[in-house]
Amino acid sequence: MRRFLIAGNWKMNAGPTEAKKLADEIAETWNGKSPKSEVLICPPFVSIPFVVKSFRDTALKTGAQNVHSESNGAFTGEISTEMLQELTCEYVITGHSERREFFGETDAVVAAKTKRVVTNELKAIVCVGEKLEERKNDSHRDVVKFQLEAVINSIDNEYASDLVIAYEPVWAIGTGETASPEQAQEMHKFIRSILSDFWSETIADNIRILYGGSMKPGNAKELLSQPDVDGGLIGGASLDSSSFNEIITIAESITK
Ligand code: PEP
Repeated sequence: MRRFLIAGNWKMNAGPTEAKKLADEIAETWNGKSPKSEVLICPPFVSIPFVVKSFRDTALKTGAQNVHSESNGAFTGEISTEMLQELTCEYVITGHSERREFFGETDAVVAAKTKRVVTNELKAIVCVGEKLEERKNDSHRDVVKFQLEAVINSIDNEYASDLVIAYEPVWAIGTGETASPEQAQEMHKFIRSILSDFWSETIADNIRILYGGSMKPGNAKELLSQPDVDGGLIGGASLDSSSFNEIITIAESITK
């Protein structure tokens, strides 16, 4: 049984003041409750301590959107896994398409960061996904396989349980376009088969695969009901506390 992970990615939104307000609103709904789903918010680095504080009396978790692959040193502007652990982060997003596109992160960089995360007692949410032209020319499976294999090739199977994969078709991120539940299921099943071939069916069955790309209250039920969709990585809708809370409530109502 895979537990849903509902993760919010605030991207470069919500500085400390706004983050505290938003996190308080989310915490208020879940305070004293134990949701079946794991719920996570990944704020900008500077807002992490404020979100941690707001979530103090809840089961809600805090994560980061990025990390460096080294533990310390002359890497101006970067943040290490040790620093995130000190802030009590549990998860780190790696390989988000915006990092790949705007910050030149290659598959090798994503693999190094992911390895650093899982070997330092954190969990990685590894994003993979094809661009629109790759979907149109039917190469989306090859693209995703390549991205995924680049990462898992560098991870020992003892760390497989610290991996979460997020399938995020780039054409659906922040565009209002969503993969259909059938498209999402097909790709999630495909991703699970890659993990199964690489490690084992048992390991693959225990790795959660999130869908990301314009998930919102109106489409969450259908997407989350798919057998291989184990949660969501949510950008825009996680910046609205009532939408995010609604998605969590929807996840809570689904039994598979
Ligand atoms: C994301 O940033 O990972 C994402 C899925 O964004 P959105 O929900 O806004 O499409």
